Amino acid sequence: MIDQTTIDKVIDTAKIEEVVGEEVDLRKRGVNLLGLCPFHNEKTPSFTVSPAKGIFKCFGCGEAGDSVGFMMKYHRINFLDAIKQLANKYHIEVEEEEETPEAAQRRKDREARQLILTWTQGFYHQELKKMQSSAAHPRFQPFLHQWGISSDIIDTFQIGLSLSQGDTLVKAISSKGYKKEIVEATALTVSDGQNSKDFFRNHIIFPILTVAGRVAGFSGIKINEMDSSYGFIMLSESPSFQPEKEILGIYQAKGDILKKKGCHLTMHPLEMIYLYQNQLYNSVSIPRNILSGQHIKQIVRFSNNITLWSGDDIASIMETYNRISKLIHEGVSVKVVDINTPHLVSYLQEQRISSFEEHVAQAKDWLFYLVKTLYKNKDTLGLDNSSVFMKIIQVIHVIPDAIVKGVYVTELSKHINLPEDMIWGELQNMGTI
Ligand SMILES: [Zn+2]
Repeated sequence: MIDQTTIDKVIDTAKIEEVVGEEVDLRKRGVNLLGLCPFHNEKTPSFTVSPAKGIFKCFGCGEAGDSVGFMMKYHRINFLDAIKQLANKYHIEVEEEEETPEAAQRRKDREARQLILTWTQGFYHQELKKMQSSAAHPRFQPFLHQWGISSDIIDTFQIGLSLSQGDTLVKAISSKGYKKEIVEATALTVSDGQNSKDFFRNHIIFPILTVAGRVAGFSGIKINEMDSSYGFIMLSESPSFQPEKEILGIYQAKGDILKKKGCHLTMHPLEMIYLYQNQLYNSVSIPRNILSGQHIKQIVRFSNNITLWSGDDIASIMETYNRISKLIHEGVSVKVVDINTPHLVSYLQEQRISSFEEHVAQAKDWLFYLVKTLYKNKDTLGLDNSSVFMKIIQVIHVIPDAIVKGVYVTELSKHINLPEDMIWGELQNMGTI
């Protein structure tokens, strides 16, 4: 371990023109230096070094980076070795940091929790596969069938099952020899001091993977055995899984979010599954009330366009309003697919591909959605005309870009037939604009 101060010192000291200059003949060209690229074959130089910016870039093959990046690519070494070599070149003493016993213990615990999470994902998935292929658990069979989840999707998302006995996982996991405290720290089992029980009982389980594909935690939908309705969602919150950080489906969707330049954001895992099954592969799901700045940053790494899916029940409308407000604040471009049903999950389950395409084509810009939905439902929402107006103004108020804000003031003025001056006046009353 090299301490961060040494790393920073090396990065600050190393001069790109000197580091590259040792391997490549560079000639001055204006403020930059130019040479033959060491990463691809060329006869005319397109490899540029910018001492001012501290970077190199090849306009032939696209390779680019800083001093450390050059060392890593040219010498095919890892980051720490590149730092060590540069430290040596610039006579910087490298202080190798000993991992404290506490830090080592925390790392080991983290690694042990990760092993358990990964193992549990496989366990739950196998439980579901067993159920699919045998008549051993007849009572579960109707649900997946009624829910209309295909076998492909079960594998893609590694969907699993927790049985209702309440100790299936406890028993299976104890035979693996993991330490009890570590197992409990994953929140997958709960103890009353004497006995351990499974956290998920009678749930369909959706593993939540990080962008890199590591199992972070689980989302479970309670199976109501009487009517197979979609019970509420439970999340296995623990030191290794914080729901306000992770996004169900982001691992599977990221490539398509990038390709399609947009992301569909749903509230219920099954809504995401139905979108995905109907070729909207750029879909993710975040439960109500927890959309965070960290969630938004993760999605925006791939695309700045987010389409929200909402039913027209009061809870969905309010959640959609809150999501719009948070996303707009982060400068995201937001549309809403607004479906005239209080039961979005069951509605989506019954649709075919063509109707998903239609809904996407008819997605409305967020302002249009808010004006239409809030005025239409104001009585049920307990709002009067002026409080609806204020709710909309509050969203416009958080638009970070002044030009975009102006566009929305003009739009709102047209929609509700109010002079722009009055809208700007209200915005001024709310503080800095
Ligand atoms: Zn090149």
